[in-house]
Amino acid sequence: MKKQDECKLCRRLGAKLYLKGDRCLTGKCAFERRPYPPGKERFQRRKMSDYATHLMEKQKARAIYAVGERQFRRYFFKAKREKGRTGENLIRILESRLDNMLYRVGFATSRGQARQLISHRFVKVNGRRVNIPSYLLRKADVVALMDEAKKNDFIKAGIEEAVKRGIPSWFQVDADKFTFTVLNIPSTGEVNPPFNEDAVVELYSK
Ligand code: ZN
Repeated sequence: MKKQDECKLCRRLGAKLYLKGDRCLTGKCAFERRPYPPGKERFQRRKMSDYATHLMEKQKARAIYAVGERQFRRYFFKAKREKGRTGENLIRILESRLDNMLYRVGFATSRGQARQLISHRFVKVNGRRVNIPSYLLRKADVVALMDEAKKNDFIKAGIEEAVKRGIPSWFQVDADKFTFTVLNIPSTGEVNPPFNEDAVVELYSK
């Protein structure tokens, strides 16, 4: 996927996906300018089949969390095996990803940037370096940035900005130490994802 196409995907899939972070909050987001899919005028939109709707919800989820089809399918089966509502479990798994958590807590401005931090080996989990963006965090895990990252003014400014904005309730942050603790894995209601997780489950259940 080309970088400049990221907000075009917002328009195509019909939701702000925040693939480039706060860009979706500005007029630059294609969904902001024309909130209907390309090639179709607003009033000509044909009603989609259930299958097409469900597929679109899955595409949104995959785009947001940047998960490949095989990985996503594995997440679905893991979610299905666990106790409770499969859709809710799926959200919890996706939210547990290290790249997602770094973005949610505000240590990165987008999940893409979070993946860069991780692959550049700037991230420690419970004192050990982790360079796998899909690493699943658990309750009470402590994530810290390496000293190299602490010297980066851009990262530092980003964290200060995030603290000012307000840290989600499921994290505890020590901004001076560039560290956060996962207090809880959030529920669907807490993260309010811009796609319908039950539609995704429907799609895989067929
Ligand atoms: Zn956008």
